[in-house]
Amino acid sequence: MAEQRERTAPAGGYARLVAELPATVPFIAPEALERMSGVPIRLRLGANESPFGSSPKAVAAMREAASGTAWYGDPESRDLRLVLANRHGVPFEAISVGSGIDELLGLIARVFLNPGDAVVTSLGGYPTFNYHVAGYGGTLHFVPYTDAWQNDLDGLAEAAHRTSAKLVYLANPDNPTGTVFGAAQLAAFIDALPEQTTLVLDEAYVEFAAGLQTLPMSHCMNRVIRLRTFSKAYGLAGARIGYAVTHPDTVAAFDKVRNHFGVNRVAQAGALAALEDTVFLADVRRQVAAGQAQLTEVAHRLGYRPVPSAASFLFIPVGSADRAARTAEALLQRGVFIRVPGVAPLDEGLRVTIGTREQLSQFAEIWAQVDRELRG
Ligand SMILES: *Cc1c(COP(=O)(O)O)cnc(C)c1O
Repeated sequence: MAEQRERTAPAGGYARLVAELPATVPFIAPEALERMSGVPIRLRLGANESPFGSSPKAVAAMREAASGTAWYGDPESRDLRLVLANRHGVPFEAISVGSGIDELLGLIARVFLNPGDAVVTSLGGYPTFNYHVAGYGGTLHFVPYTDAWQNDLDGLAEAAHRTSAKLVYLANPDNPTGTVFGAAQLAAFIDALPEQTTLVLDEAYVEFAAGLQTLPMSHCMNRVIRLRTFSKAYGLAGARIGYAVTHPDTVAAFDKVRNHFGVNRVAQAGALAALEDTVFLADVRRQVAAGQAQLTEVAHRLGYRPVPSAASFLFIPVGSADRAARTAEALLQRGVFIRVPGVAPLDEGLRVTIGTREQLSQFAEIWAQVDRELRG
């Protein structure tokens, strides 16, 4: 076998950066977990997809667009960018559309980093960002969360100064904890960063943060990249579409190296229609808020204190990494997919996506059973 491998691997080898990277994926997909466990997943509450589906208007628009799949999509996503520019009160040139935030994170790493450049993020923060930074040779510096499961803004700013960071990453609302900062705190954080540092502000869950005062999109565009997606509240995760709002010069830099035809026309049509369906979005938000209350009560009944969440999931510390791992494993054996973050001390918690009322009732029943067994 080893011999065969030797004979088939390209004799010239791979790029040094890639050859030296450990084999890793940021997230093991539920499909892969299903294949490994052999148990079909019946409750898919681990990837923060929307169990409320997508707007029927978006689905209709995508169905219609599908008949035009023989043609490439508009590589400039002009129609969508015009609508977004109008909505956010920024110039059209300040928006870049990509196949989800995940793709844009890779683009940011590529555009900003020389190998060895310093990047600061929270210890246990969104792993896909770290994955891309490593893939472009950046050096990650991690700042632990606070005891209240919040991103440590003072610590992040301090680390940015100490390391002369090129990029600082912050998810707001945060994944995996669901904690959130308001506009004033963010503005102060941006002010506290070194001048040469760009803030990557990942707002994948911002639509769920009821009553949140967000920074205007035009705030410090030369130092901040805002990231939004259609994957979460809009329920278009499988379509792969999201966007960045930032300084037009940065958008122009993206244009030098981005995958120009990487966003498909079906997704473009779906995103446009989804933006218009404000009734659907409001309904999703209402159901997520109700689900937060439902799941919080379930956790309380089992004696746990979930972290108040501004996102579409709940982070529930269960006391130890061992308990969290064994809970997730026992749930998976019963066909329930949730996530436990990979990094301590966040690995003491369960991250559960807010499902429908019915899904959460089923989850409550199975979790209570598992919890009882683990307590022995
Ligand atoms: C889900 C998620 C993403 C991925 O968004 P896509 O647009 O689907 O790539 C990015 N950032 C955070 C914090 C997320 O939770």
